[in-house]
Amino acid sequence: MYPWLSSLYTELVGRYDASKLHHGLLFMGPRDVGKGQLSEQLAKALLCKSETKGCDTCKSCLLIKAGSHPDLHTITTDKSQIGVDAVRLAISKVNQTSQLSGNKVIIIQTVELMSESASNALLKTLEEPTPNTYLLMTTNEPQRLLPTILSRCEKLLVALPNFEQSCSWLESIGVIAPTKTALLAHGSSPITFKNELEDPETKGFDEFTETLRKLKSGNETANRAALQWQSEATKVTNWLGQYWIEEYKKNKNTKAYGNYQACLSSAKRLNHPGLNKSLILNTLFGEITCL
Ligand SMILES: [Zn+2]
Repeated sequence: MYPWLSSLYTELVGRYDASKLHHGLLFMGPRDVGKGQLSEQLAKALLCKSETKGCDTCKSCLLIKAGSHPDLHTITTDKSQIGVDAVRLAISKVNQTSQLSGNKVIIIQTVELMSESASNALLKTLEEPTPNTYLLMTTNEPQRLLPTILSRCEKLLVALPNFEQSCSWLESIGVIAPTKTALLAHGSSPITFKNELEDPETKGFDEFTETLRKLKSGNETANRAALQWQSEATKVTNWLGQYWIEEYKKNKNTKAYGNYQACLSSAKRLNHPGLNKSLILNTLFGEITCL
């Protein structure tokens, strides 16, 4: 497990042992902090048949490893919505008696994607849970959840590791530790940083730094840079925003702050399909060449 999750995990298992664990837990926190992993590890502990909780060797742990535990139901989606059918199916299963005479667990990842009818279906189980049933949910955007759902869960904030913890974890898995700026540009998440390094399809932060250097020295035009980065427009816009906020912190230059805000609003506009991405990037890169 990611080391920065272990204290919260230990606390939750301790509360379970003391019969004080809430049946509906909502893990909130930024993207790539490890909420999914935490919910899976906790589910494993809740279902484990051994004293050690998550022993990896009991029947329950082995079934989880094989992806076929009859009392664990995970809802995930790569679509834009979690529909009512997926939620109803999971609920109907936990309404039956546990097949391994233990707890029953539903995990819902990115729970904010539930449709309104899916939320309402879940609400009943949250209000009147069947015995020994736990609902573990994760979200980056709790504000999108119905207030009725929010008020019936215990909300747990999963925090990112600090810079030193991030570097020591990255080094422990053989990744050279980033600079503070590079980590900030990846949302301060060492997981995002690692994933990007390992993805051969994407341009890395090093290339971005190089583009900035060339733009400043006049060896690159905003137009060419925009074309080069248009396939990763949102990412590079966030990086540019990070660059400007750092500049603002250094110099208290209001123009830098204005550019930062322009990056924020551009990042939002880039969510709309059919937009001319290179045109937006051209404007943003143009501010670098004006330096
Ligand atoms: Zn076990």
